[in-house]
Parts: sequence; structure tokens; C-alpha cells
Amino acid sequence: MLETDLKEMIKNPYRTFELANRLREETNGDKVTFVVNRNINFSDVCINSCLFCSYRNRERFVLSHDEIRRKVEEAVDYGCTEVCIQGGLLPNAGVDFYVSILKAVRDVSREIHIHAFSPMEVLHAARNDGVDVEDVLRELKREGLDSMPGTAAEILDDRIRDVICPDKLKTREWVDVITAAHSLGIPTTATMMYGHVDTWEHRLQHLKLLKQIQEETGGFTEFIPLPFMNRNNRLGEFAMPSSGFEDLLVIAIARIYLYPLVENIQASWVKMGKKLAQASLYTGANDFGGTLLEENISKSAGATSGEFMSVEEITESILSAGRIPAQRDTLYRILRVYEGKS
Ligand code: SF4
Repeated sequence: MLETDLKEMIKNPYRTFELANRLREETNGDKVTFVVNRNINFSDVCINSCLFCSYRNRERFVLSHDEIRRKVEEAVDYGCTEVCIQGGLLPNAGVDFYVSILKAVRDVSREIHIHAFSPMEVLHAARNDGVDVEDVLRELKREGLDSMPGTAAEILDDRIRDVICPDKLKTREWVDVITAAHSLGIPTTATMMYGHVDTWEHRLQHLKLLKQIQEETGGFTEFIPLPFMNRNNRLGEFAMPSSGFEDLLVIAIARIYLYPLVENIQASWVKMGKKLAQASLYTGANDFGGTLLEENISKSAGATSGEFMSVEEITESILSAGRIPAQRDTLYRILRVYEGKS
């Protein structure tokens, strides 16, 4: 897709939505997937100062290993197949710190899928220990890391990053951590946080980079567009968040642009709200994300969709949008199809 195509797509949203929906149907059929998972945010202490962050240093908590174990037990009891673990950047956190979290999870369950640590956290551990990113990833994988969230991507353009997250890893560093993970057999998601000081050109550039990586590694499981949440953060004082219409258009353009390399486009109900997430199932999205037994980060930034959606609520949302709910694991293997009522 060229810049001229992008302008056409924005000018003719109806045609864009129609094409995205057709490609979604061709790729995923009528199933809409979701994962039963729990978020564990192990600390809000962070040495960075991203302008969009509403989470950092609010309570200055660090979970103990016992608390982590208890949360994993609750997740297992609820039937979660995944724990998603991320946190702030503690000043001296090295590989051992992150490994100790993996060990606490594995004390409780050998089976639960551990989806953990952003590229920023991996780089932070490598810097603190003075070792290569590859060494950190190898060690984490050995200790039970199954996949990684492709967060900390925001917009992969250093001019934007210098404004919204000057201390965060640069575009090149994000790409290096992600491609190193893929080459070691650690799949990741891909994300984009948009709707602040970025333009459509920046978003297209971002998608282009993700597409290049996917062509080379095939390591992305899905793409998750994340609209910026403007409450309780400094960026919200001067950046205008996206409209719901724009959120739908981002999903549609991502579906078209990443087709057929990235098969799954996720509607984040936490950020978009449940109703808009339902609508996006007709503009290119095929995945509803997770149950998220705990979601501290978006809540601090003003998300109003609650912090948990039960399996019943998710399946009901998908069914009432005329689609077939299917529980998946983190790697998109289908575990259960809900052909009628939940
Ligand atoms: S977004 Fe993450 S890295 Fe940035 S300040 Fe917040 S907790 Fe720290």
C-alpha cells in the first residue's frame, strides 16, 4: 500500500471497511477468538517517564513472589490458559529479577502459558547486567518464558518517540529485541499505540516496519492497535485522542495492509470499549483479546470498560454481533468453539 492508497482509503471509509471485512472473512471465517488470561502487573515503580503513562509510581508497589504465586493460583482456578506479566522498570532489575518471577509462576503451574516482559523490560535487564539481549532472552526462555508482548512499540518513529517517551528504547532497539526473540523461537504480538501526536503517515510507516519483520521472521501472532488513553497523564494535556470512527479505520487499514502475513487483528475491548470492539468485527478484527482478570494500566489512564470480562460476557458479545466465539490459546490454537449459547 502506497501513501496515495492510504489517502484513498481514508477518503472512502465505506469501501475500506468492506474490503477489510472481506479479507477478515477469507482469513478467519466467522470465528471470533478470545483467550482466557490474567494480567499480572508486578510493580508500578519505574525509572522511565513516558508522557502517556498513568500508571508509573502511583502506589509504588512491588508484588512479592507469594503474591505472584497467589495470583497464578487464582488464574489456574478460573481456567486461564495464559498469564500476561509486565511491570515498571525497577532501577536494578536484571535477568535474575525477571527469572525469579518466571520461577514463581512455574512453582504453581508447569502448563500455564507465560506471556511476559516487553522489549523494554528485556533491554533493561540486558543493560543492568551488561549482557546481550540474546543472552537475556535465552535465559528467560530456558526458565519458562513462552511468548512476549510486543508492547513498548508505541509509534515506531524516533521523532514521535522523542516527544512521547524519550527514555524508552528507540525504534531500532525495539526491532532488534523483537527479531532476536523471533529467531530464538519466542513468538510475540505486535502493537501500535496511536492517536496522540502521530499522523496517518506515521501509522503507515509503523505498519510497514511490522510487515517487513513479519516477512523475515513470521514471529508475530497478531496485531493489536491500541488507541491512546488521555486521562491522568501529561500527554493527555495536549494530545487529542482518536475518535471511535478513526479506531475502526485503523483496524481496517491494518487488516488490509498486513494481509495475508498477519492473520489476526485484535480489537482491544479494554481500550476501545466493548461496543466499539463489537463493531470492529465488521471492519477487519477477528479477535477479542482476553478476559484480563486484572487490568491496572488502562484503568489508570481512564479506560471505562472495567478490568475483567468473563468468558460468558465475551461469548455473549461475540454472539450478539453475529459471530461464532472460539476460545483459543496464546498461539491461536482453538480450544473450544461456542456454537450457540455459552
Ligand atoms: S509506560 Fe512503562 S516504561 Fe513508560 S513510564 Fe509507564 S511503566 Fe514506565
